[in-house]
Amino acid sequence: MSTFENFGLHQNIITAVHELGFETPTPIQSETIPHLMSSQQDIIATAQTGTGKTAAFGLPAIHLANPDNKNTQTLVLCPTRELCVQITRDLISYSKYLKGVNILAVYGGERIDSQIRALKKGAQIVVGTPGRTRDLINRKKLFVENIERVVLDEADEMLTSGFIEDIEFILSKTNPDRKTLLFSATMPGAILKLAKNYMKEYTTIQAKKE
Ligand code: AMP
Repeated sequence: MSTFENFGLHQNIITAVHELGFETPTPIQSETIPHLMSSQQDIIATAQTGTGKTAAFGLPAIHLANPDNKNTQTLVLCPTRELCVQITRDLISYSKYLKGVNILAVYGGERIDSQIRALKKGAQIVVGTPGRTRDLINRKKLFVENIERVVLDEADEMLTSGFIEDIEFILSKTNPDRKTLLFSATMPGAILKLAKNYMKEYTTIQAKKE
């Protein structure tokens, strides 16, 4: 049976998730976390909300974040402001015993200047909606050239909400050596096309709802 201890995650992350009541990893966590910790391959995961996907990508992103480097290292894109806030809150709770790992939400409908000020202080993990993220990249306030991984969460929702162009723009500005992780409840042709155009060799993972 897989355990959080087996993944090689920082002990302070394990303590935080145990405190949240996570005793054993969910199936998608058991498949995704070891992969993110060791392999260079991209990932496409069929996963709905409720499968534990946030921790599946979030725990390795937090473990791999370098607190001594203030540059953005992981960018998570998601379709709505609510999801952005939720993911950010979850990641902050997983990282509460780690010093120097900053996680920031950037989304539209909120003043951009406070988000710019927060970005200036440095955030290793940025969780954004595609429109606002693109805007911040354009304004040269968010730098994604050296990013190590991009997570596309609820990719099908982002495409149906018309964010494809923003996503393509953002991916085109990132480091081509980045790792890309795509999570989606459904896998329509448009997602596979996006994967074909912007992802390298990838592993596919299917998650069942817990
Ligand atoms: P998500 O699919 O990421 O939205 O997670 C769904 C819910 O499951 C959230 O409330 C998480 O806090 C919770 N959760 C995630 N991983 C675990 C786990 N390993 N054990 C118990 N609960 C979990």
